[in-house]
Amino acid sequence: MPHFFKKIFLALFLTLALSIYAACQSSDNSQTEFDTVEIFAMDTVISIKAYGSNAEKALDAAVQEIHRLEKLLSVTEKDSEIYKLNSLKSITASDEVVNLLALSQEISSKTDGAFDISVYPLVSLYGFTKGEYRVPERCELEAALGCVGYEHILIQGDKIEIPDDASVDLGAIAKGYCGDRVAAVLEQNGVSSAVISIGGNVRLLGKKPDADGYSIAIRDPNNTQEYIGSVTVSDCSVVTSGSYQRYFEENGVIYHHIIDPKTGLCADSGLSSVTVICKDGATADALSTAFFVMGQEQAEQYYRNTDEISVILVSDSKEITVIGEVEFAPVESSEYTYSTTK
Ligand code: FAD
Ligand code: MG
Repeated sequence: MPHFFKKIFLALFLTLALSIYAACQSSDNSQTEFDTVEIFAMDTVISIKAYGSNAEKALDAAVQEIHRLEKLLSVTEKDSEIYKLNSLKSITASDEVVNLLALSQEISSKTDGAFDISVYPLVSLYGFTKGEYRVPERCELEAALGCVGYEHILIQGDKIEIPDDASVDLGAIAKGYCGDRVAAVLEQNGVSSAVISIGGNVRLLGKKPDADGYSIAIRDPNNTQEYIGSVTVSDCSVVTSGSYQRYFEENGVIYHHIIDPKTGLCADSGLSSVTVICKDGATADALSTAFFVMGQEQAEQYYRNTDEISVILVSDSKEITVIGEVEFAPVESSEYTYSTTK
């Protein structure tokens, strides 16, 4: 959808969502009291459903936390630490930003640079973030590739330094982190069960009241109105990265927002979507982006060295591969083939 229309659509959605937020205390099939909130932040729709009698107050605190994190981590907000780092190239950062940059670097190293927050000069060339989409020239990509390299981000205590031509973007990890923080804030405010949905990121707090787990649907990357199946999980993050989430089309070619830091091109590893299920939301977010770049074989290889995640890979040829312990129920009539690897 063109950016202008997207903004209008989202403004209308926000108006509607705010009116829903006005008073939405109710109960679901489990007869358990819950409250919901829906807001637009981080350029996406964020919805939270929290159970229990403390939910209303806890949701107010959760919304404050989302706005605080957006101000801290946004690549476009002029007062954010990330904006300052990109402008000044050297800053004294908060513990939170230091920790997120350090985790980003660790995941970059473990994924051989498939996940790299210093990819921002390339992302900017395509006009993502600002919605000014264009296909970059080869020479522009080559120049921007010279600015990419997570290993050049220097972290010394609370001092962060990046090279003069570098810039960073936490867009592929910060929503996962935000899910974890919102869960923590809800818990501090007396909520022990909640579902937090931030774009393609879902964070579950605790168990669903009176149920074995939450059933989370996984979107069909080829038809975003449909689902390929669902997972039943509790107290973890379920994060999906897909080429369908943000893209533009030029001369019949789709250009999507996940960039291969080694080529500067839109990642083309044979996968249409990757879902990572893991306790830590920031890790799930970063790995879903990394696996999308790495492709099936390398994602499976990564999995063999860790037992802390489950992964659902959907290939361009419509094969679903479920890796790990997660309970996945495919949609019956699905045109996809399906296999599991433990
Ligand atoms: P993911 O796969 O999780 O992340 C893809 C995003 O990460 C890309 O959009 C790009 O920014 C970056 N990226 C691409 N390739 C790689 C790679 N190989 N390694 C690491 N990172 C990569 N969007 C706007 O348009 N305007 C805004 O003002 C805006 N503000 C935001 C503020 C915050 C705090 C956050 C967290 C996000 C914001 N966003 C904004 C959205 C953001 O730019 C991304 O579009 C979004 O986070 C993508 O998430 P995803 O789950 O769809 O994809
Ligand atoms: Mg991600």
